[in-house]
Amino acid sequence: MAAGGTTGHQAAAQLTGQASDQLDELLGSLRAFAIPMPTKFRGVTVREGALLAGPAGWGEFSPFADYGPREAARWLASAIEAATSGWPAPVRDRVPVNVTVPAVGPERAHQIAASSGCRTAKVKVAEPGQADADDIARVEAVRAALGPHGRVRVDVNGHWDVAHATRMLAELDRFGLEYAEQPCATLDELADLRRRTPVPLAADESIRRAEDPLRVRAAGAADIVVLKVQPLGGVRPALRIAEACGLPVVVSSAVDTSVGLAAGVALAAALPELPYACGLGTMSLLSGDVTAEPLAAEDGALPVRRPAVDPAALARYEVDPGPWRDRAAAAARYLGEVPRG
Ligand SMILES: [Mg+2]
Repeated sequence: MAAGGTTGHQAAAQLTGQASDQLDELLGSLRAFAIPMPTKFRGVTVREGALLAGPAGWGEFSPFADYGPREAARWLASAIEAATSGWPAPVRDRVPVNVTVPAVGPERAHQIAASSGCRTAKVKVAEPGQADADDIARVEAVRAALGPHGRVRVDVNGHWDVAHATRMLAELDRFGLEYAEQPCATLDELADLRRRTPVPLAADESIRRAEDPLRVRAAGAADIVVLKVQPLGGVRPALRIAEACGLPVVVSSAVDTSVGLAAGVALAAALPELPYACGLGTMSLLSGDVTAEPLAAEDGALPVRRPAVDPAALARYEVDPGPWRDRAAAAARYLGEVPRG
């Protein structure tokens, strides 16, 4: 047996008998879904995942297909937290969210921002195959749509080098930027860029594991961290990470159903400070939902609530739970390695 498997068994052996009975019960409750997406995202056109039911409600387990069992264990821990213990008390009752403007032309960008009801827009830039002039025209159009009091941030997904980023942020800041999300790929580049631009920087792709926010801060690589609940192992671990990191947090989704979004909303609602709109207005990326009352933004915010899975809604998208039960069981072997909140 491979060394990784042995470690996994050792981790599983650390679970108490009670925890392993509870795990069996949770895996027995597992339902799987496949929801079509109107637009391709991360190379997929269908969002697949699983739901676990427990005494505290439903939890979502939807690691992307390219994640192995060790990485998926954090996503599973998040679903288990939701299903068995619920979340800390909220300190606010609504969570402002941003509209996301994809790499479309300026007229369409204007229309998307203006009709969103959001006061904050995240504009996708640096799309491969497009010119800097396309990005500038798109950001200008979104600023015009939101007016001088709206907030405009750009998301670069790590596509610029430091020189390109320095030049483009100077150009785009004419329209007033709230911040730039992951303008460069590496922490070294982000730290270098941060000394060259007055625009605040946010780290997104640089944060994939619990220790990453602290690394971002130590490197002086960002002013803001983007946190997602499932990859960090749950609401409580994410809260603890936010506290340890000390930088302002933008809570974002992993293109979850309303069950997963509710965990993101719970994190955003429990943070002591929430200075920026969150990236949780992603329900529109899915063609449907597993709840009867999806967590969709109204007037630029999400209500702090936890919608229940609706049997009829789930039935529309339900698929064979077998492969997902196997995936959850494989991930469960690594639960002992996931930091607790
Ligand atoms: Mg991003």
